[in-house]
Amino acid sequence: MTVAVVGAGVIGLATAFALAERGYPVTVYDPAPGSGASTVAAGMLAPVGEAGFGEDALTRLLVEGARRWPAFAARLSAAAGMDVGYRDSGSLLVARTADDLAEVRRLCAHHESLGLASVPLRAGELREREPLLAPGMRGGALLPEDHQVDPRRVVAALLAAIQAAGVRVVRRAVADLSTVEEPVQVLAAGWRSGPLAGLPVRPVKGQLLRLRGTGLRHVIRGYVDGRRVYLVPRADGEVVVGATSEERGDTTVTAGAVRELLCAAVELVPELAEYELVEARAGLRPGTPDNAPVIGEVAAGAASGALGSAGNRLRLGSPRVFVATGHYRHGVLLAPLTADAVADLVSGRDPAQVVKPFGPERWRDA
Ligand SMILES: Cc1cc2nc3c(=O)[nH]c(=O)nc-3n(C[C@H](O)[C@H](O)[C@H](O)COP(=O)(O)OP(=O)(O)OC[C@H]3O[C@@H](n4cnc5c(N)ncnc54)[C@H](O)[C@@H]3O)c2cc1C
Repeated sequence: MTVAVVGAGVIGLATAFALAERGYPVTVYDPAPGSGASTVAAGMLAPVGEAGFGEDALTRLLVEGARRWPAFAARLSAAAGMDVGYRDSGSLLVARTADDLAEVRRLCAHHESLGLASVPLRAGELREREPLLAPGMRGGALLPEDHQVDPRRVVAALLAAIQAAGVRVVRRAVADLSTVEEPVQVLAAGWRSGPLAGLPVRPVKGQLLRLRGTGLRHVIRGYVDGRRVYLVPRADGEVVVGATSEERGDTTVTAGAVRELLCAAVELVPELAEYELVEARAGLRPGTPDNAPVIGEVAAGAASGALGSAGNRLRLGSPRVFVATGHYRHGVLLAPLTADAVADLVSGRDPAQVVKPFGPERWRDA
C-alpha cells in the first residue's frame, strides 16, 4: 500500500522517513522540496520557552516532542550520513529592564507551576554563563531542557535519508487531492494545507536574520524593553536572530523588520554589530486558530461538512486522508513526534496520548 505525502517540509519529510522506516512504499509530492518555512526556521527545540499561558495540552505535546529529538537526531544522522546540528546546551532567558525581568519571573513561575525546569539567574550569574551579554542586563533564567537543531541540515538529511530508503520524490504541486492516486495520503503542505483541505490554517509571516561570528554559547531568548528577540548560535558560526510575527502571507523582507531585529539583538549582545550579516529571510508559519497543530485523519463526514470548502473539498470515502500541519512556531520541534503519530495512524495504531487532542475534528465539533 503506497502512501502519498503532499509537501516536503520538515513535517512531510519526517513523516516520509518514519513511514519508510516502517516498510511502506512512499511517494512525496512537492514542486520545490524544502522551500517553505522549514528552511527559514531558527531550529529552537523549546518546550519550556514556548510554554504559553492557557496552553497546557500544547505544552505537554511540546515536551514530548522535545523528548523524541535525541533519538531522532541519532537515527537521522546515521541514515543520512550527516550531522544535523543537534545541541543540548540549554537556553537562557535574558531581561534588560525591570519590567522585562518581571515578565521573565512571571514566566518562570508559570514553568514551575507546570513542573518544567527553569532556574532563575541573577545578572552576574547570567554574565558568567554568557560573557558576551551587555553589562546592563537585569537577570533571567536558565532553561536546561530547551535545545536546538539546524533545520537546514535536518531537511537536507531527511531528503538524503528518504531517497536512500527508496522514497520517490515527485516535483509537482498537487492542486487538488483528488488528483493523487495513492490510496493513503498525508497532507503536509504547511500553510497551503489550509486551502487544499478546507482547514483553518493560515500563513503567519516571520522574518529573521542569519549572522556569522563566534563567541555565543547558548540560545538566548531576550526581553528588551518589552520587545522579544532570540539568538541561536550554531557550532559552525551561524547566529540566527529572530523573529517577527505578522498576520500576512507575503515573504518580502522589510527594512523595518531588519532594523528592529538588529537593534534588539545588539542591545542584548553588543558584539553582534561586528558580525557578518549573511542573510535576511521571511517564511510563512502554518498557523491555526488555537496555535496548535492538526494531526489526524480527515473523516469522510468531516471532509464533506464544516472542513470542506466548495471548490477544494476532500474526496469522500476512499482514499484515506491524514493531515499533519498547523505546526505554527513548533514544526521543527514537533517533526519527530508528528511523524511517529502519522505513521501510527497509517498503520492502524493509536498515536501517543498527547497527540489525541489535536485532531481535525476539534473544529468540526466546535
Ligand atoms: C521565522 C521563523 C522561525 C521559526 N522558528 C522555529 C523554531 O525555532 N522552532 C520550531 O520548532 N519551529 C520554528 N518555526 C516554525 C516552523 O518553521 C514550521 O512550523 C515548520 O517549518 C512547518 O513545516 P511544514 O513542513 O508543515 O511546512 P513548510 O516547511 O512550509 O513546508 C511545506 C511544503 O509544502 C510544499 N507545498 C505547498 N503546497 C503544495 C502543493 N500544493 N503540493 C505539493 N507541495 C506543496 C511547499 O513547497 C513546502 O516545501 C519557525 C518559522 C518561521 C517562519
